[in-house]
Amino acid sequence: MRPLNLAALVERVHAELLAQRGRGRVADYIPALATVDPMRFGIAAAGLDGRLHCAGDAHQRFSIQSISKLFALILALQMEGRALWRRVGREPSGTAFNSLVQLEHEAGVPRNPFINAGALVVVDVLCARHAVPQNAVQELLGRLIDSPPPRHDAAVARSEREHAHRNAAMAHLMKSFGNLRCPVDQVLDAYCRQCAIEMSCTELARAALLLAGHGLHPSGGERLLPGSLAKRLNALLLTCGTYDAAGDFAFRVGLPAKSGVGGGIVAVLPGECALCVWSPGLDEAGNSLLGTLALERFTTLSGRSVF
Ligand code: GLN
Repeated sequence: MRPLNLAALVERVHAELLAQRGRGRVADYIPALATVDPMRFGIAAAGLDGRLHCAGDAHQRFSIQSISKLFALILALQMEGRALWRRVGREPSGTAFNSLVQLEHEAGVPRNPFINAGALVVVDVLCARHAVPQNAVQELLGRLIDSPPPRHDAAVARSEREHAHRNAAMAHLMKSFGNLRCPVDQVLDAYCRQCAIEMSCTELARAALLLAGHGLHPSGGERLLPGSLAKRLNALLLTCGTYDAAGDFAFRVGLPAKSGVGGGIVAVLPGECALCVWSPGLDEAGNSLLGTLALERFTTLSGRSVF
């Protein structure tokens, strides 16, 4: 197989799509997110050889939102092991990330850990162990990128918390089914702070190398996760990481990925590299519109995907 020229690919994808900046709709249901400049566009690719390639606004930090769900899940799985799967499923939801409808039908057990309800269960697991659960997520992220833990934006967390009526409804419903152990308010506070963590494309691409490298620390060497767990996390990302658009995303891009309503998407090419794109305009499913197009161009131009 031809080696990937990540530097050239990143430059080309960025240059090709630059004219389309501003497409999509910036998330405004969290008021503090609505103020982000829709023209921002960054791409970063981190190779397993340790080299980092980037273009555009790749060093600008943004609100990682649901991308945090991946790293919270890693911590919860390390604590609970497979017992976690009794409280949250592993199937695509086929409904929006903030939908309530399945929860009632399925007795308060969310379809997967990447929709909001599933992430709330994951945060509940972390709350039971950590006084300040988002600190544990921030520490993991800092460890992955060999730097101080990334911070969360308290104003964004507060803004989401004040408007978290749907997430509160889910949390209360799950509590009524006995699938939430900690107080609902504690879980919601921790969830909103976790979503408000800020990182750049370069930092997130580096952190996601954990999954490209089959569970080894992004700098190589130390094993942080069993290879089988890294494989399974990639499978979950592929099937559930982009919500009810996961099928279309797999069709178009063909990489395990996790998106957030801040406009970031991390994607994993196992054995080779991890990518992060950021453009705040979202499509109907809540995934970055330009970010998805960029990843689609990346796999088309490189001829690489998991398929
Ligand atoms: N904090 C957001 C929410 O709960 C995260 C959603 C997302 O990024 N898809 O709605």
